[in-house]
Amino acid sequence: MAKDETRIFYSSPESQKGLAGKTVAVIGYGNQGRAQALNLRDNGAQVVIGNINDPYKARAEADGFRVQDLPGAAGGADVVMLLLPDEVLPGVFADQIKPHLKPGAVLSFASGYTVAFDLIDLPPEADVLLVAPRMIGVGVRERFLTGAGFYCFVGVHQDHSGRALEHLLALTDGIGGLLKPAIEVTFKQEAVLDLFNEQAFGPAFGQVLLSSISVLTEQGIPPEAALVEMYMSEEMAYTYQQMARTGLVRQTLFHSHTSQYGAMSRGIRFRNLGLKERMQAIYRDIESGSFAREWQKPRSRLIFKALRFFAMRQFINRLEQKVRRSLGLKETAFEEAGEDQVSAILDDPVLQAEIESFRESFEY
Ligand code: NDP
Repeated sequence: MAKDETRIFYSSPESQKGLAGKTVAVIGYGNQGRAQALNLRDNGAQVVIGNINDPYKARAEADGFRVQDLPGAAGGADVVMLLLPDEVLPGVFADQIKPHLKPGAVLSFASGYTVAFDLIDLPPEADVLLVAPRMIGVGVRERFLTGAGFYCFVGVHQDHSGRALEHLLALTDGIGGLLKPAIEVTFKQEAVLDLFNEQAFGPAFGQVLLSSISVLTEQGIPPEAALVEMYMSEEMAYTYQQMARTGLVRQTLFHSHTSQYGAMSRGIRFRNLGLKERMQAIYRDIESGSFAREWQKPRSRLIFKALRFFAMRQFINRLEQKVRRSLGLKETAFEEAGEDQVSAILDDPVLQAEIESFRESFEY
């Protein structure tokens, strides 16, 4: 294999029986935890759940699992899957998991974030693996049951045992992650990709949608029609599926000739909007660890609350609720902080400049 060639992994008889006789602790019975634990059990693995005393614990018990506290579950396991939110993982790992690990226990992460940005203190005497499904938890379970599978990004950060790759493939296969080929990446690459998608592609796409809706409704197109056209019909989701199945450009052949001519002849007008330069700057911000350091600061938690406050009050949310009512759809309930709950942040003199820029950019 050429040095710069990506390694792709497939299921094999070895990976299928790689967890035989091993106890796997799934720490955190949330979105990923539940799906992965159920898949592992269906594949014959011995699974114990580590969870705090909350509704997730009751759910794990109702699903027939043995549930222990975090130190208990981690301490008795050969493989420990750390499926807690990234922001709580470093603290919980240091206090409740690391001191209790069996010598030589294998540690597995579903996200590269904490390791990539040096937020977690790992024991040197452990294999450290990444098994990161590119699928939400519900999809991980559903696509296991249907046999459709889901892609995973996988990698080895520490190979203490000399058998880390073997462990990686066994675990990936165990959660159903080798029903499709798995792609090797480093922890850093996985984290950067994830954040880039969230910070560059997602918001840029969101702005495209918002600008389109604004142009259309300002020109008198009924909002019901505009929203259905842009995303509520789910036609876009279908187009995305076709991109995955047929090809980004090739799928356009499924559209009418008018559509193809219009899209291609007008498409070039959007080529030089400076998007790439902005995306490169965001990439650098992520890759250098600058974003992760910013997000660690208590100040960022305050900014986050203000951002959510403004985002939830945007005009599009009101328009959407109106459209949903006219189309007889259920109104979506979401938690909305009252102005009084964030007034201390909104009036904080140190944060004023940033708060004002949010107020303007969110069409509050
Ligand atoms: P969830 O938000 O669903 O939470 C996971 C579990 O962690 C819950 O049981 C939760 O219980 C528990 N938990 C939260 N805080 C604490 C705490 N302080 N102490 C102990 N337990 C706690 O997480 P996800 O499944 O979304 O994410 C888990 C990992 O998977 C992350 O690394 C994430 O990046 C990765 N991942 C997630 C994907 C997704 O689709 N969500 C996709 C791919 C990877 P409670 O809420 O009651 O506190």
